This record gives sequence, structure tokens and C-alpha cells, in this order.
Amino acid sequence: MSYTLCEKVRELEPYEPITGNYRIRLDANESFYNMPDEIKAEIKDIVETMDFNRYPDPGAKELIEAFAAYYDLDPENITATNGSDEMLYLLASAMLCKNSKVVVTDPDFSMYGFYSFLSENEIIRFRKNDDLEINVDDLISFVNENKADMLIFSNPCNPTGRGISADDARRLVRSVSALVVLDEAYMDFWDQSILKEAASYDNLIVLKTASKAVGAASIRLGFAIADSRITKALRAVKSPYNVNSLSQSIGKCIFSKKELLDSRRDEIKKNTRDLYTKIKEITENYRLPFKVYEPCANFVFVGTEKAGDIFEYLLENGIAVRYFKDSEALRITTGSTAQNSELLVYFEKYIIEKILKRNR
Ligand SMILES: *Cc1c(COP(=O)(O)O)cnc(C)c1O
Repeated sequence: MSYTLCEKVRELEPYEPITGNYRIRLDANESFYNMPDEIKAEIKDIVETMDFNRYPDPGAKELIEAFAAYYDLDPENITATNGSDEMLYLLASAMLCKNSKVVVTDPDFSMYGFYSFLSENEIIRFRKNDDLEINVDDLISFVNENKADMLIFSNPCNPTGRGISADDARRLVRSVSALVVLDEAYMDFWDQSILKEAASYDNLIVLKTASKAVGAASIRLGFAIADSRITKALRAVKSPYNVNSLSQSIGKCIFSKKELLDSRRDEIKKNTRDLYTKIKEITENYRLPFKVYEPCANFVFVGTEKAGDIFEYLLENGIAVRYFKDSEALRITTGSTAQNSELLVYFEKYIIEKILKRNR
């Protein structure tokens, strides 16, 4: 007898972010801050007093309360998951019937399409315009004409760093009958959130994560905010013990540090701004036709036909960024001031040595 893998998984490869040891990691949009020692000390206490033999709280009540307090939300409207990735999978699988139509925008976070593919949804791609912006009226018509069951997109967008205004987001949600999944993973860095009003719509789920501005990617925490009807369904379809006890307790601790989180978020915003300004200056100085997108998130997206080459050059010099082949672009996460300076040195060095072919 021989067992044949089902066709859709036969050729799949495990998700592998860049492997290898790089001095500077600017490839995954993580926070460049680790947790400070005071918080690590609190985490040590959490570990020491944990009842490791007990299942976690399926409702993650205390974690959700701390998250809700930080963002000024009602805990009743929140579902916690093992990273937002778990919720993305649930949305594509459990929350949709067989052969549902899912609209994704292009380019956008690749996991949306991937989970829809696994769940055998019909994926319909809405192309962004040449500036990689969403024309909201066109998107509304697209969703309605295709009779989509779900629309999912990130705002601000990963990888472009561009976004739509809160007013456009509201108009979009009101103008379609599809379920709108609005991924605000990076909205901490911008001011066009509709998170606080998420529960006032009957067709909206806003997603948040602790992996970016909060700087806790390691403990895998995601949150879905929606009205009570949707929230009840989300809580019902998730696996009961999806968020482990350590992550719940550590997350509760971290979300209670409002001042720390706010000030770090502001530093990340400032560093992103500086990084953007300097990349733009360098490319304009040398009159290169690079397209540097103004960032609304914690990374800078740079379109250039040299993207693949620059990516390799930076890697050789110990700096990892993300390369998007389809868009011919680089996504450079902001690092600390020192990390950004080093990135900029090698970025400029590449231009001088490889494009202008000058040796200093
Ligand atoms: C990083 C990211 C997430 C977060 O995923 P987690 O599973 O919570 O780490 C979600 N959406 C987008 C668009 C992201 O870039």
C-alpha cells in the first residue's frame, strides 16, 4: 500500500523566514526593543508561581482585560489567539463555508491568501494602483460585484507601509455586505484606527497583535475585536486552550506597562521616520529612480529593480531585510539608531560600488 498526500499540500514547503545568523535583523517587522530587566524579573516570578499541571483559562480573561485597558476597549468584544496567525487561519476555515469567496488586495500580507488556499476558498485578488494605494471606491465595487463573502486586508499594509484613512475604512465597511477583516497589526504606528468602534458594525473584525509595536512576538498573542455576535462565534470556533498560560500571564504583565509601551512605540515611529528620510535623501542625492514609500508603519518599503541585488549585498554584510520579488522591492524594518546607521552605510556603499561603480 502507498499513501498519497492530498494534492494541495504535496508541494508545500514549511514557512522559513531567513535562516542563518545575521548581525542585524531588519526583516520581520519586529520591535528592536527586547523586554527591559524589570519586566524580565516579573516574568521570572510568573514562571516560578505557574501551575504547570493545569490547563490555561480558555477565555484568557485577565489577558484580555489588560489588552482592553491598554487600548480602551470593552473586554466583551475581544477574542485572544495564539498570534493573529491563528485567527487568520480560523477566519479562512471555520468562519467561512465551503467554496466561499475571499477578496484579498495585492500586494498585501501573504498569509491571507495562504490560509484561504488551505481552506479551499476562492481567492479573488484586487490589484492596488501603480502607487500601491487602494482606491476605496473601486474596492467597494469589486467586493460587491464579486459577491465576496469576506474581504481581508492590512491597514497600514504590510509590505507597502501605506494605508487608507479611518473615514475610508468606515465607508468601506458600511458599503459591503461581506465580512470585513481589517488587520491593524501596524496601526499603533499610525492614527487612522477604527479599533474603538469595531463593535458597532455587524460585519467587521479588527485584528491586533502583540508581535509588532508591543515587542512580544515570541509569546504569540493576537486579538480579534468585533461585535458580540461575531465574538461569540470566534470564541466558539477556536480551540479551547489556544493561548498557553505563560503567554496569558506574561501578556497581562506587558499590557499593564502603558508608559513603557507608549514611549517605545514613539521611539519606533521616530526611528522609522528618520530611516525613511535618510533612504530618500541617499537615493535622491545619487538621482536614482528608487521609489521610497512614505511609511505609516515600522518599516520602509523601497521599490527598485536592484532590490534582489541589494538584498544579497546586505546579507553578505550581515544585515537581513526582506526582499519582495514580485514587487521588485525591499522592506526594511526600522532598527535601533545604531542599526539603522549601519544599514544606511551599506545601502549607500552598494550604490557607490555597484551602481556608480566607483571605489572610494
Ligand atoms: C506580523 C503581522 C501579523 C502578526 O502576526 P502574529 O501571528 O500575531 O505574530 C498580522 N498581520 C500582519 C499584516 C502582519 O504583518
